Amino acid sequence: MDKPEKLIVDGRRLDGRLPDEMRPLKIQAGVLKRADGSAYVELGDNKVLAAVYGPREMHPRHLQQPDTAVLRCRYNMAPFSVEDRKRPGPDRRSVEISKVTREAIQPVVFLELYPRSGIDVFIEILQADAGTRTTGITAASVALADAGVPMRDLISAIAVGKVDNTVVLDLNKQEDNWGTSDMPIALMPRKKFITLLQMDGHFTPEEFKHGLSLAFKGCEQIYEAQKQALREKYSIKSEGE
Ligand code: ADP
Repeated sequence: MDKPEKLIVDGRRLDGRLPDEMRPLKIQAGVLKRADGSAYVELGDNKVLAAVYGPREMHPRHLQQPDTAVLRCRYNMAPFSVEDRKRPGPDRRSVEISKVTREAIQPVVFLELYPRSGIDVFIEILQADAGTRTTGITAASVALADAGVPMRDLISAIAVGKVDNTVVLDLNKQEDNWGTSDMPIALMPRKKFITLLQMDGHFTPEEFKHGLSLAFKGCEQIYEAQKQALREKYSIKSEGE
């Protein structure tokens, strides 16, 4: 992919979006039969599947905690999810993302209700186009709710970044490649409590504040779509519908 001369032309990004616009979002809850809970999320060209198993007896047993459940998250990129085939299996990046995903989700889950149990969250990236860790977190929280795991709130997540010296919401792959900064954020939408904030590159304090406000706005949209997906799965349809 060659570097385009400009990433923002006449106020619009190369895919036609305004700086504060997210890519098209689609969320579906309960897409897998065998998992206790699941969700499928598309954000632009990202396609992500999340599956939840548990709460169930924790194995191996020596990892059981007497007073709480243990949340385990695994982020995995399919070999066919990126342009050049990705070598299958865990690597440094997926280990890091799995860890920050668990830390982003754990604060909303009432783990103390399930001593000695384990809750496993699997995130599979089927197609990647930048922003997969945040899309994975968004999918995982819907899958946990679908599994009936008691939670304080959902977690919504999105990245903001800087391209051509402009702070923009939800970088696509081209912007991720050629932009200068990237800041994935996850939060509890109702309390605006941030559970993940990473930063690659630099933001001035003003840019940082603006970036945060864009992320809050993006997460509001994501939150609505997450709740809608759950409503669609669980609403009781009246006869004839
Ligand atoms: P995120 O997906 O959360 O933005 P990164 O910033 O690490 O995480 O990655 C940005 C994008 O780079 C990914 O969404 C994916 O499109 C691409 N990418 C990541 N890892 C690989 C890889 N091993 N091979 C090819 N492309 C990759």
